[in-house]
Amino acid sequence: MNDVQTIGILGGGQLGRMLSVAASRLGLRCHIYEPGAAPAGDVAHAVTNASYEDEAALRAFAESVDVITYEFENVPTSALDLLESIRPIRPNRRALAVSQDRLTEKTFLNEIGLATAPFADVPTEGDLGGAIDRIGRPSILKTRRMGYDGKGQVRVGDGPAEWTGAPSVLEGFVDFSAEISVIVARGADGQVAAFDPGLNVHREGILRTTTVPCGLAGAVTTDAVLIAARIVSALDYIGVMGVELFVTPRGLIVNEIAPRVHNSGHWTQAGCAVDQFEQHIRAVAGLPLGDGKRYADVVMENLIGDDLGRVPDLLRAPNTQVHLYGKGAPRPGRKMGHVNRITG
Ligand code: ATP
Ligand code: MG
Repeated sequence: MNDVQTIGILGGGQLGRMLSVAASRLGLRCHIYEPGAAPAGDVAHAVTNASYEDEAALRAFAESVDVITYEFENVPTSALDLLESIRPIRPNRRALAVSQDRLTEKTFLNEIGLATAPFADVPTEGDLGGAIDRIGRPSILKTRRMGYDGKGQVRVGDGPAEWTGAPSVLEGFVDFSAEISVIVARGADGQVAAFDPGLNVHREGILRTTTVPCGLAGAVTTDAVLIAARIVSALDYIGVMGVELFVTPRGLIVNEIAPRVHNSGHWTQAGCAVDQFEQHIRAVAGLPLGDGKRYADVVMENLIGDDLGRVPDLLRAPNTQVHLYGKGAPRPGRKMGHVNRITG
């Protein structure tokens, strides 16, 4: 594994794009596998544009790389089975299986002693009434699989509850004072490095800003980092993981984990010598991790949809790093880029 030259990345979005740039700085090549549009392909050594059912394409992709990683966790199991028979997948399959499904994820977190929102399995619409009786209102119904940016979620208030249309979990509403996340990395040698927790603000279910330092007491940030380290160690994880947490008066509650680089870790590009993308590449390539120390205060802001119109001004702003994903025409709710403002 120490002779990794080419990294295969499943998924060709902005995360794959920024991973590919980071890999290139270390003299490595990336091969992107993406069924749809692939902005990552613009900056990669090779791109395969094929479906996850195309066995010949999957096989050729796997044989052309030394290790396989992903920027997108909802890759079909059949594709992963085939790929894994040819090359190692990092982070491992257990991390993927756990985080692909909100029910499995919460069960795993509770099993390793971490607090989550109270939850109930809601396999069908007929199970919803019983679940609401157990969890109470307000609560949030979320599809078990495939949700992102708040998609597949329904608030359960006082009125009749809507159905998501797919097997779901009902989560008790957490009355949090803040949302934070930890971007943690674990190397092939078991070494763990975490970036400073960031304070996240969401609007309409989509992350808008991440601010570091997060402004919370040291006891809270230390606890957050310890929780993240416990999760990656329990999974024998290799790579970067995003751990989203709610801050409550009764302590930290894990919202969800993402087995990949994470939007709330984009600030590391302007705040650290080794950012989350390079850290992930180092881990999956079997290289030593960077230390993750933060040397600047940063506010990361996502550029969503028409925010793209602000780019000319942002390009003129001091202490501002502009990242654009090369996605073409903006659509409402679509992440088009982000900016990192160095604030101190
Ligand atoms: P993303 O892709 O941004 O991570 P997602 O679609 O996976 O989002 P969640 O992280 O589960 O969705 O939820 C999105 C946001 O909705 C959370 O960051 C939080 O602001 C709010 N939220 C989710 N679950 C709860 C809860 N149980 N109680 C209170 N707020 C919640
Ligand atoms: Mg989330």
